[in-house]
Amino acid sequence: MLCIERHYSLKPFNTFGLDIFADYYTEINQVEDLTTLRRMDVFRHEKRVFIGGGSNVLFLNDFFEGLVIRIVTKGIQIVKEDENDVIVEVASGENWADFVTEMVRRGYGGLENLSLIPGSVGAAPIQNIGAYGAEIKDCFQLLQAIDLKTGSHVFFDAVTSDFGYRTSFFKTLGFGRFVITSVQFKLSKHPKIKPDYGSLKQELDQLGIQHPGISDVSEAVCRIRQSKLPDYTQLGNAGSFFKNPIIHRLLYEDLVREFPDIVAYRDGSETMKVSAGWLIEKAGWKGKRIGNVGMHDKQALILVNYGNATGTELYNYAMQVQYDIKKMFGVLLEPEVNIIH
Ligand SMILES: Cc1cc2nc3c(=O)[nH]c(=O)nc-3n(C[C@H](O)[C@H](O)[C@H](O)COP(=O)(O)OP(=O)(O)OC[C@H]3O[C@@H](n4cnc5c(N)ncnc54)[C@H](O)[C@@H]3O)c2cc1C
Repeated sequence: MLCIERHYSLKPFNTFGLDIFADYYTEINQVEDLTTLRRMDVFRHEKRVFIGGGSNVLFLNDFFEGLVIRIVTKGIQIVKEDENDVIVEVASGENWADFVTEMVRRGYGGLENLSLIPGSVGAAPIQNIGAYGAEIKDCFQLLQAIDLKTGSHVFFDAVTSDFGYRTSFFKTLGFGRFVITSVQFKLSKHPKIKPDYGSLKQELDQLGIQHPGISDVSEAVCRIRQSKLPDYTQLGNAGSFFKNPIIHRLLYEDLVREFPDIVAYRDGSETMKVSAGWLIEKAGWKGKRIGNVGMHDKQALILVNYGNATGTELYNYAMQVQYDIKKMFGVLLEPEVNIIH
């Protein structure tokens, strides 16, 4: 049964660990509940936001004047299988990291580089999550969503999802209109391993693994993540706060003349992807703490809540970083984290 709570704490549901409340809160345990919810006054008249694990959101205010809807639907099923591949359908409320672990355990390859990323399955396509040389678009087959405007069930394939670097149709033109209810992945029984990403390769080499399998890759990724990233249960954060900016080759050439140690990679024939972490560190923000907020001292891209920060404090700090980077390098840093007003 659908239960609407009032004045509900969101502290357990945002990895920044903000002590915030929602005026209205509900959980979706089965897809049918969404149809019921859509017809309710609280849905039609209140401002609303969907969340999964709350690991990529920053609530600006201590009190969200509207309805927060957390998707907690569960279920993993094989929808098609042959001797080479398997198509797996997963409910949006499944935990992403647990799902990947389960696929690795079953010997289905394709997602192992994305081990231990926090959050839910349903949110993963929103920003086309990626890490260690892989993105979900590499294994993505299809997703099912509900169009909140019409109430109809709709399907998106990889083309209509319009995946890009930390983005998709759902973060751009389709923003706010669709709730993702399940995602299908095409995984391989004879996977092609992707061990070549710098730090992953290094870790595998250090472990003496020359011909890694999917569980070796998954374990190596988990080891790197556990050693390098701050644990959000101890130090509130939402992973990388900014995306790596993509800039024109000509701007890059100007920057290299002034900053020969700039870290960047070719992204297209005329564009370069610049390390946002490098920009932040170079501008002196790495490890710089103002009150309860700072960019992490080991991971310059991670904005952390050192204690009792508010959403506004975190946001204002991030905007100061953004302003400085623009002034110093002429490059605009775009937040990867979704800002909830
Ligand atoms: C320590 C840490 C490390 C991280 N590392 C990575 C990384 O390596 N790579 C990476 O890509 N990301 C990373 N992230 C970011 C985050 O894990 C991903 O973006 C994840 O997919 C967010 O899932 P979530 O369920 O927590 O989404 P939420 O934060 O709950 O929501 C994110 C956005 O999706 C929307 N949304 C959520 N569920 C649905 C749904 N079912 N239908 C429609 N809209 C929905 C929300 O409204 C919001 O706009 C990291 C975060 C943390 C805290």
